[in-house]
Amino acid sequence: MGRLSTLFAPERVAVIGATDSDGSVGRAITSNLLASFDGDVVAVNPYKDEALGLRCYDTIGDVDDPGSVDVAVVVVPPNAAVQAIREAGQAGVQNVVVITAGFGETGSEGMSREQKLKEAAREYDLNLVGPNSLGVMSTPDGLNATFGNEMANEGDISFMSQSGAFVTAVLDWAAERDVGFKDIVSLGNKAILDEGDFVAEWGEDPQTEVILGYLEDIADGTKFIRTAREVTQDTPIVLVKSGRTDAGASAAASHTGAMAGSERAYEAGLEQAGTLRVESVQELFDYAQILSGQPLPDGDEIAIVTNAGGPGVMTTDAVGDSDLSLAEFEDGTLDRLRESMPDEANIYNPVDIIGDAPAKRFELALETVLADDNVSMAVVVACPTAVLSFEELAEVIVEKQAAHETPVATTLMGGKSVGAGQEVLSEAGIPNYFDPARAVDSLDALRDYRQIQAREYESPASFDVDRDRAEEILRTAARRDTNRLGVEAMELLDAYGIPTPQGAVTRSPTEAEEVAQDIGDDVVMKIVSPDILHKSDIGGVEVGVPPEEVRSTYEDLVVRARNYQSDATVLGVQVQEMVDLESGTETILGMNRDPQFGPLLLFGLGGIFVEVLEDNTVRVAPVSEPEAREMLDDIESAPLLRGARGRDPVDEDALVESVQRLSQLVTDFPAIVELDINPLVATPDGVQAVDLRLTLDQEKL
Ligand code: ADP
Ligand code: MG
Repeated sequence: MGRLSTLFAPERVAVIGATDSDGSVGRAITSNLLASFDGDVVAVNPYKDEALGLRCYDTIGDVDDPGSVDVAVVVVPPNAAVQAIREAGQAGVQNVVVITAGFGETGSEGMSREQKLKEAAREYDLNLVGPNSLGVMSTPDGLNATFGNEMANEGDISFMSQSGAFVTAVLDWAAERDVGFKDIVSLGNKAILDEGDFVAEWGEDPQTEVILGYLEDIADGTKFIRTAREVTQDTPIVLVKSGRTDAGASAAASHTGAMAGSERAYEAGLEQAGTLRVESVQELFDYAQILSGQPLPDGDEIAIVTNAGGPGVMTTDAVGDSDLSLAEFEDGTLDRLRESMPDEANIYNPVDIIGDAPAKRFELALETVLADDNVSMAVVVACPTAVLSFEELAEVIVEKQAAHETPVATTLMGGKSVGAGQEVLSEAGIPNYFDPARAVDSLDALRDYRQIQAREYESPASFDVDRDRAEEILRTAARRDTNRLGVEAMELLDAYGIPTPQGAVTRSPTEAEEVAQDIGDDVVMKIVSPDILHKSDIGGVEVGVPPEEVRSTYEDLVVRARNYQSDATVLGVQVQEMVDLESGTETILGMNRDPQFGPLLLFGLGGIFVEVLEDNTVRVAPVSEPEAREMLDDIESAPLLRGARGRDPVDEDALVESVQRLSQLVTDFPAIVELDINPLVATPDGVQAVDLRLTLDQEKL
């Protein structure tokens, strides 16, 4: 069991701020605890002698053997809360649930109060939930330390929510259905314990089969990914994430910054963490139910058995929209169906055993298709008829599902006639829906989870790089009074082994000529100025400059920069070797730092139309080799890289390695806030980083 096991399975709970005042939160918590908790409840309130039949102690230190209190629930007013937490810590209590609001959520005074609360919690090494929490629940011991008005039913789902109100809504909703819980926690402001801690705890809890979360943000994305990856090997995590902020995207100075906003960071981060992300509350519980009730499929192929043509077609459409595919039956299966079903039946998938089918016919059909090796899961779709008892049908389905250990979902389409059948199914953990699309979606979630479980995580590679050199380049740049760096910092890429063409930033036409001579061919010339973000937009890039025009081109580029912005800082002109664009593809490789998930890598189709085409994919860094490779597969123009239309395929390994090397660079230097290599030209003979732009946070250097 994990560090938080006594939080959820305490023997003694103290309510600091217990009271019997009508309508108060303190009263609600105390009476909820008294109503069902198997352990001891003690009350602390210096202004009362007694509350709801409990003697009130002045402080938690006055309780007999205060160190045996496992959890202190704090409901005192905000200005007394920090003191109460200190006293709990001094008394030797390890777990504190702070219900009191009026902290970080309320402005600057609250913010500094929350800071003090954190300090107190750290001083005593407290497991602190909240503040601003509805509380915690755990059904095995009847623990209801919340001020909600409903106690959860027992079950194997553990649920965390960043919204307390949502917890009460879910409990109310669940009370009407067969949804039970093991533990529930309202996370509140997450001053100390956050989603990562609970995921870790429930990952070790044998009584938790599925972890659900409603989150508005993720406090520490990197920690969350690390923890969740491990937990999802055994316990599925299903999350709804709302409150999508897009802070940062609007201020972006790079293409990557503009395209890789925080919503994409979540999407990528939660996917890399191995969580199942859902869009709605309905999906959250649909997934939870099937994941806790049904085994995982061994493939993607689904069989449909129905007594109704139309709903059969609807189900088939839903399969088309999912990642599942209709199973193709073995010959033996078809023979058996042909023998046992009426002539009018359709024995091919979707199997339509027609409207006059009694439960017995469903049984035969189901037995036959579930025995087929090509069938990994099944959905039974039935409409009410005079010859069909839903209850009998449910019993048949339960029996066959158990016999074959194949996941099954059902669609008993109807209202009042469904009741008894539904109960039989739900007892056996088989989810039933009116809408066939939900049944298919839920089965699809099982497939997704199976794939997550099969993942193997590799550690990111660590290349031999020149870290000191890179740091020096960043420091030199920082000494100039700007946070924006361009091609003058190309050596940063060299230091991390990302190939760049030969070239240099020159400060005079003569110097430019010298560099061009060294290169010994036509060159590319670019204006170098922190004030010019997109050089070609102002005519600041000249491609294919012959030796005799280098001098005049230098002057032209500077004039263009002045015309664009008269006081622009011009650092010089870069003279660069030409890269063969004919045989190559311009890609973009970049990074944007997300406030929660940290460095988000972006790879996609590059060049000057990058934001028009927006064909790119993102991952939270650091990435391993397989993850970097996946990024190449992800983009829609992947065939372009693989040699579409008779072109030679580009050197994919070199691309993958560049992604990994950039991953290492941005992980090593938190001072790099955003970065674009656009284009990173990929050719059959390797890659060349032709352009660079990055933003620095000097304070992090
Ligand atoms: P910016 O993005 O600021 O406009 P770039 O350096 O990316 O400036 O240059 C713009 C375009 O010019 C590139 O997308 C590429 O098509 C072309 N280009 C730049 N450098 C080279 C080079 N060394 N060889 C060939 N083409 C180049
Ligand atoms: Mg560019």
